[in-house]
Amino acid sequence: MPLSKRGKSTEQIHHPYRPPEGWDAVPVPVHKASTVLFRDTAALHRPRSREGVTYRYGLQGTPSSFTLAARIATLEQATHCVLVPSGQAAITLPGMALLKPGDEVLLPDNVYGQSRHLARGLLSRLGISHRFYDPLDAAGFAALLSDRTRLVWLEAAGSITMEFPDLIGLLSACKARGVATAMDNTWGAGMAFNAFELAPGLGVDISMQALTKFASGGADVLMGAVCTRDAAMHRRMDEMYEFLGYGVGQNDVELVLRGLPSLPLRYRAQEAAARELALWMQQQPAVARVLHPAVPGSPGHAHWREVSGGGSGCLFSAVFKPAYAPAQVDAFVDALHCFGIGYSWAGPMSLAVPYDLSHSRSLPLPWPPEAGGTLVRFAIGLEDVEDLRADLSQALALLD
Ligand SMILES: *Cc1c(COP(=O)(O)O)cnc(C)c1O
Repeated sequence: MPLSKRGKSTEQIHHPYRPPEGWDAVPVPVHKASTVLFRDTAALHRPRSREGVTYRYGLQGTPSSFTLAARIATLEQATHCVLVPSGQAAITLPGMALLKPGDEVLLPDNVYGQSRHLARGLLSRLGISHRFYDPLDAAGFAALLSDRTRLVWLEAAGSITMEFPDLIGLLSACKARGVATAMDNTWGAGMAFNAFELAPGLGVDISMQALTKFASGGADVLMGAVCTRDAAMHRRMDEMYEFLGYGVGQNDVELVLRGLPSLPLRYRAQEAAARELALWMQQQPAVARVLHPAVPGSPGHAHWREVSGGGSGCLFSAVFKPAYAPAQVDAFVDALHCFGIGYSWAGPMSLAVPYDLSHSRSLPLPWPPEAGGTLVRFAIGLEDVEDLRADLSQALALLD
């Protein structure tokens, strides 16, 4: 896809698509097939072209999924995109495509839990080692880079503790050593910043996101995307996609296509509500600190300001004062009516999940143990913000 300068909503609604002759309707149809017929044996024997789209078999994609891939590329300001069946599959793809036995990958300590699991499990089994870095410490990170470092994973903001990484510092160090970079951009969703151009000439090589979250917006589909501006990198992603047989269901494609035109509106509404509630939670006596990149004092706030156009996602965490036992914080979560208890986020319903970080981090947290107890991660949905605030308020009142 060529890069575009139009607004995010306009771009998704007016994205090029040519309906069949005589059918001048806006929605993209659901094209399904395993078999795609060849006109004759000469067409069958013709080598697969690298230029443009040639349909040979359903697993490689259909007009519906190619349209969605092009729209996601536009959203991310990338030129290429591969769709895969989940965000998790989009995390696995770059690692499998770019790493070989003996290589090392560096991961931020606040990486999405399943990324940590992948490094410790599958990648270790393949002889690929990993180390964790502090995403706020670019100098310490640069010292970890070695000749074996072949991929640096980034996540902005990080999961659960929400530190926003020093992207400029981290990417400059990678660029200086020629190390490939891949970002989990699920939180930003192509809305918070341009991952491929965080500063002039400085961006990631690969941006993946769980379309499960904001792009779909319905909490009813699992899908992932791996985007890049580098044609050679894309070929490696595409090749691994074929090795793994990562096809996506066309009904799921339809759901995500339907979610995209409202993504910018939903993102802005959810980020505004999340920011308002985060600031409100910070005032509550039971809360020791709120973790949200746009909230001053939150770890990485200055780094967020450096690269962000103001976008700040729908997530925040509240760390309760250590005086509140984990069971009391659980009771607070149980007392909420408008917040479901469950994973994933960016759907219509707000969610709340308490986390125990004691076994899921390799490095110390950015605050001393006496300065915080149990953490609850909130994902803000599309309910009326006054109802959410009233709900939090009544559940907090039960704490004392
Ligand atoms: C949910 C999530 C994923 C994984 O997406 P699935 O579609 O659930 O596999 C990856 N990264 C982040 C940051 C997520 O929140």
